[in-house]
Amino acid sequence: MKFILSRMMLSTGLLASAVANASNITLCDTTGCRTGGSVSATSNYAQTKFPIVLAHGMAGFSKIGPIDYWYGIPQDLTANGSTVFVTQMSSFNSSEVRGEQLLNQVQQILAITGAQKVNLIGHSHGAQSIRYVAGLIPTRIASATSVGGPNTGSPVADAISGVTTIPGVGPIAASTLSSIVNGFGALIGMVSGQKYDQDSLAGLASLTTKGAAAFNAKFPAGMPTAANPCGQGAAEVNGVHYYSWGGTSTMTNVLDPVDYALLLTQAAFGGKANDGLVPQCSSHLGMVIRDNYGMNHLDEVNQVFGLVNIFESNPVSVFRQQANRLKVAGL
Ligand code: CA
Repeated sequence: MKFILSRMMLSTGLLASAVANASNITLCDTTGCRTGGSVSATSNYAQTKFPIVLAHGMAGFSKIGPIDYWYGIPQDLTANGSTVFVTQMSSFNSSEVRGEQLLNQVQQILAITGAQKVNLIGHSHGAQSIRYVAGLIPTRIASATSVGGPNTGSPVADAISGVTTIPGVGPIAASTLSSIVNGFGALIGMVSGQKYDQDSLAGLASLTTKGAAAFNAKFPAGMPTAANPCGQGAAEVNGVHYYSWGGTSTMTNVLDPVDYALLLTQAAFGGKANDGLVPQCSSHLGMVIRDNYGMNHLDEVNQVFGLVNIFESNPVSVFRQQANRLKVAGL
């Protein structure tokens, strides 16, 4: 009943005006995610029972804005029947600080919509944010989906943080380290235009192997077991359904300048499959939908501006399929 009420509110614009009064959250429609728009779905393929809430990763928004981080994705989900909210957290901060910011926004969304639960989807460091919220208020979370999430950390973060001895790689030469740092800086800078600051160091610390392990000890739900670290995690914990997918490509589109930056980070991985920032196995959480899409870390959210691998499933359709999976599961 409450979900039906929210759809009625949508049609009258009441929900949109309620969202306009809330900070950091944005309701999306088929033309974008501006407040006050009207919903006009063309199918019910992605019409989940509970609203979908998108949580971004480590990036600033001075260039692209919080909406276009998910390039074309909210619009497509909405056109196919989803109610979608985009949230905005600190570009760079610890998993716990960003998680607390998302928790606050999820509580606003629950209050505004009257929905019993929400479906959380987090990209990159957003994976830790959604796991934090699912861990604290599991009865209000239907699902948590990690997309390219560094759930057990990233060797790129290890290298930049000065942890120069990486499993499988050994000590990193200064010249190689400089290449990794430059690649990482270009990767983040290309998207955000942000400069490093104290918060970025906290964010980086959270993404090291050690930092991720400390977070996982507090929020273990959905993580693969220690005995099988590259296996799947529990599909459901405390009523929350956990899913994940990730990519294992770097250069996917010669027109995308970020792809060249991602090549620079490769030295950190010692030849192991990765998406330019996250190792294949680190992306695992709950039910692993697929961990080797021909996508790099930014392709996973259809960046930059839709420049992705034309020989792979389009990232937008992968999100649409996940919404349908949630719908079929009654979520
Ligand atoms: Ca790309």
